[in-house]
Amino acid sequence: MQKINVLDQRVANLIAAGEVVERPASVVKELVENAVDAGARSITVEIKNGGITYIRVSDDGSGMSPEDAALAFKRHATSKISTDKDLNNIRTLGFRGEALASIAAVSQVELFTKTRDYDEGTYISIQAGKITEQKGIGCPEGTTLIVRNLFFNTPARMKFLKKDSTEAGYIADIIDKMVLGHPEISFRFINNGKEVVFTPGDNQLLNCIYSLYGKDYAKAMLPVAHEAQAVKVTGFVGKPDIARANRSLQSCFINGRYIKSKILSIAVEEAYRNQLMVNRYPVVVLHLHINPSLVDVNVHPTKMEVKFSDEQQVYQAVYWAVKNALYAKPNIPEITLPKKNIFEYMPSQDGAHYIQESEQQAMDIFAAAPNQTSKEGTNVIESKVSMDSYSTSSTQSTDVQAEIQNYKIIGQLFNTYIVVEKKEEMLLIDQHAAHERLEYEKLLYRYKNKQIHSQVLLVPVVSQLSNVEMGIVKENLDFIKNLGFEVEEFGNNSIIIRQTPISVEEPELKNLFIEILESIQHSKTESITEKEYQALYTIACKSAVKANKNMHMKEMEQLVSDLLKLENINTCPHGRPIVISMSKYYIEKQFKRIV
Ligand code: ADP
Ligand code: MG
Repeated sequence: MQKINVLDQRVANLIAAGEVVERPASVVKELVENAVDAGARSITVEIKNGGITYIRVSDDGSGMSPEDAALAFKRHATSKISTDKDLNNIRTLGFRGEALASIAAVSQVELFTKTRDYDEGTYISIQAGKITEQKGIGCPEGTTLIVRNLFFNTPARMKFLKKDSTEAGYIADIIDKMVLGHPEISFRFINNGKEVVFTPGDNQLLNCIYSLYGKDYAKAMLPVAHEAQAVKVTGFVGKPDIARANRSLQSCFINGRYIKSKILSIAVEEAYRNQLMVNRYPVVVLHLHINPSLVDVNVHPTKMEVKFSDEQQVYQAVYWAVKNALYAKPNIPEITLPKKNIFEYMPSQDGAHYIQESEQQAMDIFAAAPNQTSKEGTNVIESKVSMDSYSTSSTQSTDVQAEIQNYKIIGQLFNTYIVVEKKEEMLLIDQHAAHERLEYEKLLYRYKNKQIHSQVLLVPVVSQLSNVEMGIVKENLDFIKNLGFEVEEFGNNSIIIRQTPISVEEPELKNLFIEILESIQHSKTESITEKEYQALYTIACKSAVKANKNMHMKEMEQLVSDLLKLENINTCPHGRPIVISMSKYYIEKQFKRIV
């Protein structure tokens, strides 16, 4: 590796400024990038306590001379660029010369490094940015950096760190990206003494996918190979049936650098158009090879955003690369529709109210008492009671109740709203919002009373999770159990779901579960209540009847009668209105019956 020089102020000022050390995962990212840049063939990352107390990154790369070893911790000290022109042609992952300085300033660092040209290695110890010891030492060729007690001298930043397992999840995510970006390097990741990732470094991307995501995913990947003008695209894209509820298994690399790019996501999703259901995101690992002069990576301090000199060209290349992979002859993907869920009614063709099979089934269900066994064809043992009353008993017939409550259901409008006449008012009820609210109230009531009805799945569902998601599961096992899920770890970042709080079929269930994990992750406070509300909303939404579905009169009656029993029916759990009303007085005024 070239000698380190300290950038002059003019060049330093051209570099996107900003803090890069936000959490242990940022440290790991920067150290592994350095190892990659040093030409390592194998890299070991070891962490303890989510990286907060201990991070070690060892590589067998070029190492540093004793002079460079000391210089490396200075700000703007880098061997990767020296003039402003170099910024236009960056071939390394690093170039800012800031990472080691920033890391050393907020932790206790030890460095062991040796180049091939020196008989002896160098040891340096730094505390809060000050070198406390430097000496010659015997060590293998390459570099080991140990970072202890991150943020020990900046308690304010320490406070923002999450629990160990969450931080470990972020780190594992970084490792995933590094592995997928560099199949030619053998990676080993050790968390609290346990080896969790090992890749052979045989330059086979599919082997990396196998190591990280497991056999099922690896088997469902289609190879990508496409070249157009200045852009070459390689990698793998997942068949539509392994698509997920979020984008966490999408990785794009440009010249080995993991990047986040809207334009690339759009190109990928366009290529999958009509192959995926709404809110499903494909699994993809794409490598773009572009002349570095056509990509600007000096946009953001984390170097994860880029600017392309010709966006259109990149978009087209990715779009066609993915599209060709999906439609390649032996691989025409099958689209499997999920089994019909009880709320999916076919709208009646002629507008007449003939009862279809699923409607009849739904009616039975709405009228059913709890603990009735469900019809065959579903994956669930317990009853499919969806609208059973949770606060008051509903043994009275709905007609009688309607009379008591003094309203009349006129019908359904646009397959989405229920029109109700109540005293001197016309109500328009959003069926989905109303049902969601009722489901939510029911869940909340049961949750508070520890009465969530769990349903045993006949066939347990195995779901592959990302590292971050797995961290959330581990941290919230009790909470998830209280929500009515029975979940166990199933090895290799997957879980097995044995019981669920509502009856949902397999693909929906996986999505529901991942959405709950997202809601847990994004609930802004650690307060258990916000987490609880968010998770219950998510479940309620999944179990509620959708807009644009024809509802039978009996179902509407049940829904309206349950809804009107609630005290406050203004909004659904998401804050959208449930009911709007128009008074008779207003209507008559519009028709000029009253003046
Ligand atoms: P940058 O990577 O942007 O150059 P860093 O602060 O991350 O800045 O590293 C400073 C310099 O230290 C690098 O340019 C490189 O010369 C040297 N260095 C850091 N880590 C390693 C390593 N693992 N092996 C060899 N050299 C390294
Ligand atoms: Mg670096």
